[in-house]
Amino acid sequence: MDKPTRAETMAALDTLCMAEGVEPGLLLALLKFSQLAEKMREDWVECRGAACTAKIKWIKTKKGREMPVERDGTPHHATCPNASQFRGGRGA
Ligand SMILES: [Zn+2]
Repeated sequence: MDKPTRAETMAALDTLCMAEGVEPGLLLALLKFSQLAEKMREDWVECRGAACTAKIKWIKTKKGREMPVERDGTPHHATCPNASQFRGGRGA
């Protein structure tokens, strides 16, 4: 299936807005917001550990330190074979 062009997408959006009685600008803002939310959810990186290929995400702790966690929320230190590299933070 061909990807719709931007013009086609915009036209479809306009039609949808007219049908639903929604401001196109408002709908675009919502779309942008959901794209940003999606991007934040996708903020997973591969662990830099030489023997580790886990997907991790860096979060800020309440104390303001960065900490890698896994998809289920457990700190990555616990399972990473290269855990010692995390002692210095992200730059290790
Ligand atoms: Zn790791």
